[in-house]
Amino acid sequence: MSALILGSIALDAIKTPFEKRENILGGAASYGAVSASFFTTPHLVGIVGTDFPQEHLDYFADRGIDLEGLQIVEGKTFHWSGEYLADMNTRETLATDLNVFEHFTPTLPESYRQEKFILLGNIAPSLQLHVLDQLEAPRFVVMDTMNLWINIAKGELTQLLTRIDMLLLNDTEAHQLTGELNLIKAGKALRKMGPEYVVIKKGEHGALLFTKDQFFSCPAFPLEKLDDPTGAGDAFAGGVVGYLASQLTADTDHKEIDVQLLRRALIYGSVMASFSVESFSLDRLRSITFADIQERFEKMHELSSFEKK
Ligand code: AMP
Repeated sequence: MSALILGSIALDAIKTPFEKRENILGGAASYGAVSASFFTTPHLVGIVGTDFPQEHLDYFADRGIDLEGLQIVEGKTFHWSGEYLADMNTRETLATDLNVFEHFTPTLPESYRQEKFILLGNIAPSLQLHVLDQLEAPRFVVMDTMNLWINIAKGELTQLLTRIDMLLLNDTEAHQLTGELNLIKAGKALRKMGPEYVVIKKGEHGALLFTKDQFFSCPAFPLEKLDDPTGAGDAFAGGVVGYLASQLTADTDHKEIDVQLLRRALIYGSVMASFSVESFSLDRLRSITFADIQERFEKMHELSSFEKK
């Protein structure tokens, strides 16, 4: 039971109205893989430089993350810097230093080509396509993206949409990609572009799942403490893919992908995102156990059910 997790691995500098942190572990694949590691064995595909601290590699290994697909090359690790405005929702990118990313070709180890559950986490669409091309028979491919790629690589991104099962993106990206301001119309338009399932994330207001003939509104876990929203989307994606991998490969009743299974996957994603934002970097995810995840999952169930009369 495993899931392939592709994406950036970064050293971030984050500024919020309350605090500033430099040189902390970040990147889409870091959040995605650690989040997925609570459900399955992530096979990490990415690149770091020789400056990447050994303690982070040790942490990935401690979480049971397979590092055969991680390239460590001479040079500096990808560095991203961002600042959150007072609402802790609006974010400005201050710097994106590609460094070792500039010459990254994600060649998969032979043993990864059979992977069934795939998270094409945030990274250039050309690299997402390159990984997809090397997979022999993926069963469920989830893709995340960001505004930058919609701006500069829309062609490749559109091509990818015809080859994936589930697209994750946030509300502003959904507007940007479809031109639709209404999220329901945007979700439908995105499904028409290829993916069977579309998830539009709305930050602290949860996420919407669009399937062929169903719609699901997944709540966000209500939080009073929010230290750093960075990586929430990636932790969400890791939870979704990790949970699906755990359920669909285990010998359980859920051999087929049904809508209830997808709904549960989104709830787990939402729970993982809620932990992720409670501290900077992956610090909160370091301190939790599966029992903590399960406790929030149960609370989400209570929060979203009601009696008809
Ligand atoms: P999120 O908050 O889900 O958008 O993810 C934030 C993470 O994405 C940060 O830890 C960054 O290191 C990483 N990131 C930011 N910009 C990029 C980019 N252009 N490509 C890949 N990863 C990025």
